[in-house]
Amino acid sequence: MAAADSPVRLVIHGASGRMGQALVRLCAEAPALRLVAAVAGSEAPHIAGVPGFAAGELASLPAFEACIDFSLPAGFDRVLDRCLAQGAAFVSGTTGLDSHQLARLDEAAARIPVLWAANFSLGVAVLQDLVRRAAAALPQWHRDIVETHHVHKKDAPSGTALALGESIVEGGGAAPHYASLRAGDIVGEHLVQFTGAGERIELIHRATHRDIFARGALHCASALAHRAPGRYRVIDLLSGMTGRGA
Ligand code: NAD
Repeated sequence: MAAADSPVRLVIHGASGRMGQALVRLCAEAPALRLVAAVAGSEAPHIAGVPGFAAGELASLPAFEACIDFSLPAGFDRVLDRCLAQGAAFVSGTTGLDSHQLARLDEAAARIPVLWAANFSLGVAVLQDLVRRAAAALPQWHRDIVETHHVHKKDAPSGTALALGESIVEGGGAAPHYASLRAGDIVGEHLVQFTGAGERIELIHRATHRDIFARGALHCASALAHRAPGRYRVIDLLSGMTGRGA
């Protein structure tokens, strides 16, 4: 294992995707990280100066201390197994995971540091807290979540919408209704609406650039690499981050 003060050796899994490309680009500006391998689905990605691997070649990866996974649920189990074998920190933003895959995150956390989040923006982490408090104060009001994303997004409702729904349930009262819209190139919008008789509260988060998610995930990977095994939350790792303009 490398010393805690040398750059963290990082693998990006899903490196050819929309998020993966942002991660690779921004990683080059992060002195705390050194990208040692980029992995994509059926074909190895071609990135100057970085060894590329297809998803079926995970056994050939060089040694690494952290992995960021923004891929699809079909690739999730294999990359988590590889991180367990390596004893590396696992940071994942892949959404649409099934209940077995979500349970595996807790099992893995007994052996490695694990952070899975449906959203890596600090704004959404704060929105979750606001929504929980509103739900606790307004248990009788109707709750609705409307999420809007680009036309390529496969899962619906979005992972972020479901996480916001969990925050509502934690606050108390009924679970929300969900609505999903797919349009154009929208990065991600989430409206949480509480409606009573004659009045309504709307809490909205709009992501205008996917760099916010990539920067958040890169920061979490460098922060997590040398920590003890366990489950970690975005808000704990991102709340100290400054200068978050994309
Ligand atoms: P994308 O379709 O553009 O890219 C997917 C990537 O995964 C590609 O590199 C592809 O080659 C790879 N891939 C596909 N199948 C694979 C497999 N079986 N094994 C390994 N790799 C495989 O998708 P995207 O827009 O970049 O989003 C990726 C994931 O991240 C999605 O689940 C999306 O919902 C999620 N996402 C999360 C956040 C967040 O903040 N948590 C933000 C944006 C997107």
